[in-house]
Amino acid sequence: MFKSNYTVMEMIFQNYPPGFEALITILLGVLIVALVILVAMMVWVYKDAQKRNMNAAVWLLIVFVAGPCGCVIYLMVREPERPLNPSYQQQPSFSQQPPPVTTSSNIYCPSCGRELSKDATFCTGCGSKIR
Ligand SMILES: [Zn+2]
Repeated sequence: MFKSNYTVMEMIFQNYPPGFEALITILLGVLIVALVILVAMMVWVYKDAQKRNMNAAVWLLIVFVAGPCGCVIYLMVREPERPLNPSYQQQPSFSQQPPPVTTSSNIYCPSCGRELSKDATFCTGCGSKIR
């Protein structure tokens, strides 16, 4: 019978020297790499979910619990990037913008398109002669 977990650990280390310690080190290394990958996935999913107006905190938790599986699930169910984003709707679209106003007092340079006063003889932008 073992008195405590410490005794168990001692027994294991005494029974499997010295390769066992190397194995533990390798396992620990793999575990750390897996943890770094998991954190990277969590950060990516969190930011991506925010971009798509999804519940980023919930997806962060799902990836944390399910790991790569959670990441795969997220990739399958995630919403398209833009339509639900409120800031996208605030952006003016081309159809809503009034066309450039062409007043009778202004003309445009035939070479560079710069707006000039009606009586200008030379373009102030490119220097080409008007009329
Ligand atoms: Zn010009």
